[in-house]
Amino acid sequence: MTKYPVLRLKPGKEKSLERRHPWVFSGALTEEIRKTEEGTIVEINDINGRYLGTGYVQHGSIAVRIISFEKRDIDTLFWKDTIGKAFQLRQRLGYTDSATTNCYRLMHGEGDGVPGLIIDYYAGTAVIQCHTSGIYLHLDTIAEALKSVLGKELKAIYDKSKETLHGAVSEAQNGLIWGEAADGLVMENGFKFHVDWVSGQKTGFFLDQRDNRALLGRYSKSKSVLNTFAYTGGFSVYALANGALKVDSVDVSKNAIETLRKNMELNSNGAQNFESYAEDTFQFFKRDNTLYDIVILDPPAFAKNISARHNAIMGYKRLNMEGMKKVSPGGLLFTFSCSQVVDAETFQQTVYSAALESGRDVKILHRLTQPADHPVSIYHPEGEYLKGLVLYVD
Ligand code: SAH
Repeated sequence: MTKYPVLRLKPGKEKSLERRHPWVFSGALTEEIRKTEEGTIVEINDINGRYLGTGYVQHGSIAVRIISFEKRDIDTLFWKDTIGKAFQLRQRLGYTDSATTNCYRLMHGEGDGVPGLIIDYYAGTAVIQCHTSGIYLHLDTIAEALKSVLGKELKAIYDKSKETLHGAVSEAQNGLIWGEAADGLVMENGFKFHVDWVSGQKTGFFLDQRDNRALLGRYSKSKSVLNTFAYTGGFSVYALANGALKVDSVDVSKNAIETLRKNMELNSNGAQNFESYAEDTFQFFKRDNTLYDIVILDPPAFAKNISARHNAIMGYKRLNMEGMKKVSPGGLLFTFSCSQVVDAETFQQTVYSAALESGRDVKILHRLTQPADHPVSIYHPEGEYLKGLVLYVD
């Protein structure tokens, strides 16, 4: 067994790891974390030398992220086991051999036991996003493990870590690290989508809204639908293909809107009852006073960290107030927040404040979250980042 450096916790600070929560805060350690190089694999012991977990060092308030609660080497076998387990879960859930969906999240950070690692699978191409330099150091081993776990299903591996590393590894460049570039055409619940992992946002597509898009589909027949923060048209496609009367989509990104148009055409069966606007949502609300039967609000995370939380809450309130105004009496509002620091209760409170000010009669019909390929470790409830409400707005 490899002898990893040992870091000890101050007395009483072992509780969190005993509860299998994977984060060690810098203030819990007996030593200054900056003495240990970023990315170093370390073992965490309590003050009496009892082993608690193995993780990697990151210079910041979360100083160590645990990737194993068992003493073991972090080697090829570790990555094969860990990615293998995640793959097995997706197999059991039916994602890996579905006739209608060929894209899913394979590794979801803490939810799959590896904080800092995201892998999305798009019809043969695995897109890896490392959020920490500690994970980035293992990229080659992770790629080898992926090939071994997925076998011939896997045609290419693309590394999309540059943006999520926030400059922590200056030489990091996005690019194909194995296999042949594919055209990025995927299928979700039988609908076709272009996914552009090279210049698109995140890994190219928002797989986390799959189930919620299907729910929207159920309510869309003969309805007018406004999809704001539409990105490449996930919700718009489901609405259109399920018989919506018309579908309008708004996104500030021109690139996203271009792909959205292609995606709509791919699934429209020649229908022309859709429009798209490359525009700021608030601008659109100001200049357009059409009411819609269904309005979708799926903004990017307004708060990326706890210090931005208050402003984010104010942002969600304003957005939801404006959004409710666009819903015709007896219509639906699909409203989301993907800010990890705004929990479900706070989000509902915020939407409640918006409803109260709008003076409308509002009922909660559904509480939504992320799908099963974005699992939440019960020991790390913060992993439940996506929150949604479907509201009846009279
Ligand atoms: N609902 C989408 C994902 C939305 S991601 C899906 O199902 O795929 C958030 C999107 O909001 C991004 O595409 C981003 O370009 C867009 N965006 C960010 N700020 C915006 C703004 N002020 N107005 C409109 N769109 C915005």
